[in-house]
Amino acid sequence: MKIYNTLSKTKEEFVPLEKGKVSMYVCGPTVYNLIHIGNARPMIIFDTFRKYLEYKGFEVNYVSNFTDVDDKIIKKAIEEGCSAEEISQRYIAECKKDMAGLNVKPATTHPLATQEIDGMIEMIQILIDKGFAYNANGTVYYRTRKFSEYGKLSKKNIDDLEAGHRDIKVAGEESKEDPLDFVLWKPKKEGEPAWNSPWGQGRPGWHIECSVMSKKYLGDEIDIHAGGEDLIFPHHENEIAQSEAANGCPFAKYWMHNGFLNIDNKKMSKSLGNFFTVRDISEKYDLQVLRFFMLSAHYRSPLNFSDTLMEAAKNGLERIVTAGEKLRDAVSNGKEGELQQNEAALIDEAKKYVKKFEEAMDDDCNTANAISSVFELVKFANSKVSSDSSKKFACALYDILSGLCDVLGIILEKEKDAVGDEAYIEEMIEKRAQAKKDKNFALADEIREELAQKGILLKDTREGTKWSRA
Ligand code: AMP
Ligand code: ZN
Repeated sequence: MKIYNTLSKTKEEFVPLEKGKVSMYVCGPTVYNLIHIGNARPMIIFDTFRKYLEYKGFEVNYVSNFTDVDDKIIKKAIEEGCSAEEISQRYIAECKKDMAGLNVKPATTHPLATQEIDGMIEMIQILIDKGFAYNANGTVYYRTRKFSEYGKLSKKNIDDLEAGHRDIKVAGEESKEDPLDFVLWKPKKEGEPAWNSPWGQGRPGWHIECSVMSKKYLGDEIDIHAGGEDLIFPHHENEIAQSEAANGCPFAKYWMHNGFLNIDNKKMSKSLGNFFTVRDISEKYDLQVLRFFMLSAHYRSPLNFSDTLMEAAKNGLERIVTAGEKLRDAVSNGKEGELQQNEAALIDEAKKYVKKFEEAMDDDCNTANAISSVFELVKFANSKVSSDSSKKFACALYDILSGLCDVLGIILEKEKDAVGDEAYIEEMIEKRAQAKKDKNFALADEIREELAQKGILLKDTREGTKWSRA
């Protein structure tokens, strides 16, 4: 399997540090608002890549943080007259809801920056002891020039950077030894959350957070570090400088970056105000459609968001889901017994699409081509399954299709997930029986209607209420 490594600017064969295992860190969102669909792009892409690694048999340790201390969170807390923690907790919960709707699997660990301050202080102290950082009146800076490989990820030349920086005089940064130095620890300002440290009360800089959380949950050296391409510089460049100087070994073997989600060919961002939240989209579409839309382009290409492309994604997804339904029907109604003549050969033929799918995913996670092979499989299944097919044949094709859909995170059997488990249905039936006893017929009808909308039909019999799927 090959992945494009931003560090070498080439597609490289993927060889994990430890056989059969993958350690992966994906920079997560700053939680001061509902996430927008640009933020959802790395979540969906790297979740799909993780699912593919698991499909290939790797054990994946997947870590994605929440940045829960930041100027924007503090600003929002001041606006709302509440604590920064209240803001970050609220939007972490909302983000997790969106992730569930997008069928993004929770990370092995979702660390919070504010819970990892001790580790940050420790790493900053190591950097000071090694001469890579210095304290200037309560602000600790990284001595950028001391890290001789600075710029290796973003391919920036340190002298060009310095020329650029000279023009920009940032207020309050006069204590820096060099304009290129960046902040590891900043002193407390009135009304801001702060922690005790050897350099006085304050809070960490953004870059040190990821270096520390990655080290704690995945180790000094990891396989893959990922995020949106805007993070290459300065965030990931600075993470490399910090981690490699502190740990004395390479930080990440592979660096993966997704392209931007644009709108009217401009980057979608909160600061430009040209964004849709995932929640906005969920009012019009099932979030599966958004997921499918994101996967229909190569992850490194820019992707322009439009109604037309979302409608195309909706139709494409429907074609796949309908093929799944048709196959399930064929399983229920198919002929009992062994595979019939030709059916074994047809199953082998269907496996060709699996091979194509894997080849696409092995080629730097090319989900666009992988989806094409799913469409080919759908077309094949639609044309080969009929009322004469055996149960076994329909079942084999369904397993092939659902195996590929699982990698892409496409849910083929939606109703069950929407309704939850059978215990939920029983609970609703009991609630309805109680409502009837209480002569609250309006509530009883409401419950029946709610279940009907989810495809669950109720039938009142002498033995009680029975249910079936529509
Ligand atoms: P932020 O909360 O801005 O730190 O972003 C969280 C993640 O979303 C990072 O990996 C960003 O690179 C990514 N991201 C933000 N905006 C976009 C966008 N318009 N398109 C793709 N990725 C984005
Ligand atoms: Zn990060």
